Amino acid sequence: MSNDNIEQKRQELDQLNLEILKLINQRAALSKEIGQLKLAQGTNKFDPERERHMLNQIAEHNQGPFEDSTVQHLFKQIFKASLDLQKVSSQKTLLVSRKQKSEDTVVQIDDVKIGAAGHPQMFVGPCSVESLDQVRQVAAAVKEQGLFILRGGAFKPRTSPYDFQGLGVEGLKILRQAGDEFGLKVISEIVTPGDIEVAVEYLDMIQIGARNMQNFELLKAAGKVDKPVLLKRGLSATIEEFIYAAEYILANGNTNVILCERGIRTYERATRNTLDISAVPILKQETHLPVIVDVTHSTGRRDLLLPTARAALAIGADGVMVEVHPDPETALSDAKQQINIPQFREFMSELKGTKIASV
Ligand code: PEP
Ligand code: MN
Repeated sequence: MSNDNIEQKRQELDQLNLEILKLINQRAALSKEIGQLKLAQGTNKFDPERERHMLNQIAEHNQGPFEDSTVQHLFKQIFKASLDLQKVSSQKTLLVSRKQKSEDTVVQIDDVKIGAAGHPQMFVGPCSVESLDQVRQVAAAVKEQGLFILRGGAFKPRTSPYDFQGLGVEGLKILRQAGDEFGLKVISEIVTPGDIEVAVEYLDMIQIGARNMQNFELLKAAGKVDKPVLLKRGLSATIEEFIYAAEYILANGNTNVILCERGIRTYERATRNTLDISAVPILKQETHLPVIVDVTHSTGRRDLLLPTARAALAIGADGVMVEVHPDPETALSDAKQQINIPQFREFMSELKGTKIASV
């Protein structure tokens, strides 16, 4: 074959490429429209029966030289690319998404703002509420540092059923009493939709813990109340799953959601969990919600609280959670990793000294 002939065939190939390109994009546009109709109907995007029908039809009409299995493989790639396209366009519609709302959400409780650029908030308090005296001591230390938010667990999701399960409603009352006395906003974890009502009565913010990140009934219930919700990342949740969990709350009407990275399970045993610090900028890019970092549960190590808190603020977190107990050795939960009040003062003075942000 002469060079001229090859050149001519190549031009034909180029032409065919452009035609195929036009056709696959036409196909993609059509499939996107179908995806939107399915989204409106609430039906599943992937339909295996429909895919089987298309693959059979392709094989029936295949006149070669490609084998049936080859053309089916090629078309499967096109089907997959179309499905991925539908996924991207449906993600754009998520209420939590930055594409949906470009400006940052600032959660406000009276004059306390969470998510205001350059003003990170500290979430400080004991792992568990144990007594009024214990919570008052920590509340006084929080106030002394000029901070605004007091945490404390009343309903404790413990690994062992034989461990301290928390004081329940009594714990919420103690937290409220200490919060009122020291002028602090209070936050505590709720583990069942049935406790939402009592939580709303005593708390300024509701926490949904790592173990309940995909407790969808709890997420829905939290979405229906007029209280900010702090949602913690599940122990082995991907960022995508975390974002969808937050979406449950917004989709049910509550837009005041704060995300909390608290470490994930990996093979690493040097820390209790592995702090996924890059989740912070990813969540801030993908969503408009405030993002904080829990340095206590992620590391499980007192010696790592300060460096990880610094890293959190440096990478753009809107706050840091840290557990403080007047006498950690006798704490009824997380005795190993809570810091005492003098250690907390030291932690705060070092953190302020970094001049990363005014906390
Ligand atoms: C907590 O903050 O009290 C707690 C139990 O944390 P997590 O849900 O992240 O384990
Ligand atoms: Mn704890």
